[in-house]
Amino acid sequence: DPPVEKYEYQAEVSRLMDLIVHSLYSNKEVFLRELISNASDALDKLRFLSVTEPALLKDAVDLDIRVQTDKDKGIITITDTGIGMTQQELVDCLGTIAQSGTAKFLKALKDSKDAGADNNLIGQFGVGFYSAFLVSDRVVVSTKSPKSDKQYVWEGEANASSYTIREETSPEKLIPRGTRLTLYLKRDDKGFAHPERIQKLVKNYSQFVSFPIYTWQEKGYTKEVEVDEDPAETKNDGDGKAEKKKKTKTVVERYWDWELTNETQPIWLRNPKEVTTEEYNEFYKKTFNEYLDPLASSHFTTEGEVEFRSILYVPAIAPTGRDDIINPKTRNIRLYVKRVFISDDFDGELFPRYLSFVKGVVDSNDLPLNVSREILQESRIVRIMRKRLVRKAFDMILGISMSENREDYEKFWENFGKNLKLGCIEDRENHKRIAPLLRFFSSQSDEEMISLDEYVENMKPEQKDIYYIASDSLTSARNTPFLERLVVKDFEVLFLVDPIDEVAIQNLKSYKEKNFVDISKEDLDLGDKNEEKEKEIKEEFGRTCDWIKKRLGDKVASVQISNRLSTSPCVLVSGKFGWSANMERLMKAQTV
Ligand code: ADP
Ligand code: MG
Repeated sequence: DPPVEKYEYQAEVSRLMDLIVHSLYSNKEVFLRELISNASDALDKLRFLSVTEPALLKDAVDLDIRVQTDKDKGIITITDTGIGMTQQELVDCLGTIAQSGTAKFLKALKDSKDAGADNNLIGQFGVGFYSAFLVSDRVVVSTKSPKSDKQYVWEGEANASSYTIREETSPEKLIPRGTRLTLYLKRDDKGFAHPERIQKLVKNYSQFVSFPIYTWQEKGYTKEVEVDEDPAETKNDGDGKAEKKKKTKTVVERYWDWELTNETQPIWLRNPKEVTTEEYNEFYKKTFNEYLDPLASSHFTTEGEVEFRSILYVPAIAPTGRDDIINPKTRNIRLYVKRVFISDDFDGELFPRYLSFVKGVVDSNDLPLNVSREILQESRIVRIMRKRLVRKAFDMILGISMSENREDYEKFWENFGKNLKLGCIEDRENHKRIAPLLRFFSSQSDEEMISLDEYVENMKPEQKDIYYIASDSLTSARNTPFLERLVVKDFEVLFLVDPIDEVAIQNLKSYKEKNFVDISKEDLDLGDKNEEKEKEIKEEFGRTCDWIKKRLGDKVASVQISNRLSTSPCVLVSGKFGWSANMERLMKAQTV
């Protein structure tokens, strides 16, 4: 026999398994979802790699997943014909955790409980495999990678700190390619090995797996068989000869066979009219390992120059744990070509980086299957797709903003408002789409944010411009002397309190033909100039100004008479071509 090698788990793995088993005990059945989604991932990887390396498919077996149960022994086997694992991959994948630590997992677990969200968590942390130990005492993984000519067996037990790996030698256990998982169920969990139960779970959890899943089921058919008639009933025809009569009877013939258990049509190919919101949400959570429903979704087909189908989503929360909000490499868009998964590794090719929070799938028949990053970056088709996707994303966001439920958009704004403001700076072409989605506090609404449309609606007949003041907080915006005259005139002033606000507004320049005007700049014109009176005042106070300027010297550019105050005696303003006080503050903050 070949040697059995013993390996220790990375310390984090042991802790994690413990955590999973103890925190998810009430929802054990998720193990099946996790193991099936690993099988499906393995098939996806194989199908993708085989586009450029057809030799990987040399063992002509179908791409599918098979789940077999033995209810008497309490055993479940899950077999896929996917990419499999080499010996080294077994160690790397099933003995160590790549990215996410236990602490992160714990925190998310707590958050999700607080949010009352369901358990889609394990998958999100790349620890799905260990959920096998929710129900198993012992797990055996026998796997054959097309890159290796040997098949290896990984074996682990619940609550153990080590596992073993050996070469598979029993001829009857050899598989052409892929992975076979054997779960030896815990005594109390043997019920999962009931064929009907497993069939129900597969149906429930693998709704969106695009490979066929078969379960091993007992079947029956009826047939007529001839039976000899009961001798007691045999008639005597009188002349003493007993005549044997033939009779037929219906019996049920039983046998076992594989039964297709899922529907493999991808959800995006279905008719939008026939897909329910729940199905869209489930697909989202499953595909992107999310545990909260999305805020909105949009399912569409485009025709004409370029044809593709897509479902886009706006998540309910921004990803946690990252300070920089704009991460273009999010794996948020999954590109398929003719239903084959191609890539989710994009860097602004399909969405501008400020919209990189949008998640979704895109399936096109017009791209080549072996599409590469270079092709993506240069393709005219991709450029057209991008344009349409962006437009659809804006429609979807606009939809949230018009929802009856104002809270939805507040949630959106809290999470992704910054992204849209960045869009004002980076995407001139879409200013018209972005501007109506912006929200600000104002002098007349400092509890609830308002839209620019609401601002314009509230403008006074004699008011020409949209006024704003940039400040570091609502309190200082509220108390600035610049406001005084506008308050008297009942003109609303936007409070730009987020550092990016001012730059965003300056990039927009105007909204509905009304200019944005900074009320702290020196030439503020409120449309109420009284030349006569100004002249009078200038004569009266001109020398006072000269005197103050002399005293302050270089500290100020000039000292002027102004009509902008009503109760404060003086105010410091910025020159009209200079930075606003707020910008000065920001620039200073950046240079130290
Ligand atoms: P995740 O699926 O999020 O990566 P898992 O704990 O579920 O995390 O699986 C860990 C890794 O083990 C996978 O990334 C994959 O490389 C490998 N793996 C698990 N199941 C299979 C399988 N059936 N076939 C091939 N590789 C697998
Ligand atoms: Mg997984």
